[in-house]
Amino acid sequence: MAQVNCPRCAAPIELDSGNKFAKCSYCGSMIFFDRTGAGFYYAIPFKLSQNDAVGTFRRWAGGSTKAKDLDRLASITSVKKKYFPVYLFRRDVNGREEVYVKPAGSTILPGLHQLKVPGGDLKIFDGNFDTNGAELVKPDIEMTHYLDNLPGKGKEQALVYFPIWTIDYTFNGASYQVVVDASSSEVFATSFPTRSSAAYLLVAVAGFFAFLVLGFVATVYLVPALILMALTVVAVFFISLTVARRL
Ligand SMILES: [Zn+2]
Repeated sequence: MAQVNCPRCAAPIELDSGNKFAKCSYCGSMIFFDRTGAGFYYAIPFKLSQNDAVGTFRRWAGGSTKAKDLDRLASITSVKKKYFPVYLFRRDVNGREEVYVKPAGSTILPGLHQLKVPGGDLKIFDGNFDTNGAELVKPDIEMTHYLDNLPGKGKEQALVYFPIWTIDYTFNGASYQVVVDASSSEVFATSFPTRSSAAYLLVAVAGFFAFLVLGFVATVYLVPALILMALTVVAVFFISLTVARRL
């Protein structure tokens, strides 16, 4: 049995070895422990409602790199409100303060190492903190896992519950997921349906070779070659149109 003091009210807290997370029975603060000591939990409030998150997703899906009409045709299968745990490290690196954010949950969510923790928005996460129905994802990566590889000297470390919306959707029979940062509105995705340019390229290359061949034919049979060229132009036009409609 180890004993540490609550970093907020200094009350003694007993904990079993192996138990990394505890609640102060005096002030209700959520506290975590490791060999570096005790630290606070913080949480960042949700700035985006569920509707905002879906709207942000639709705008993202309408971007030029996404499959045509993804914004309209993506069929949303679930929207979940979650608090995802990250470690926040403030380090002194050669006299400058650097902040590092690392995932504390092993669920691999795309882009979560790029999260930016907004300065003034950290609220102490204690018994009074209202999660507003967000699911708390359990931290299962230890802070020490990162500490050895961070530059500089530690100034502060904390566990921060980061507000996210996860949106699952299907498109053309395949399933995808995006994460919407509910504090900065950024969208993270490892994979998404992309606009295919390969089909256009194929049509263009085929058209080019058809003209090349017809050019040689024209040196011998001019009129039939010109007729075939005209037909090729019409064919390339309609094939391109079909490709544009379908992709
Ligand atoms: Zn306390």
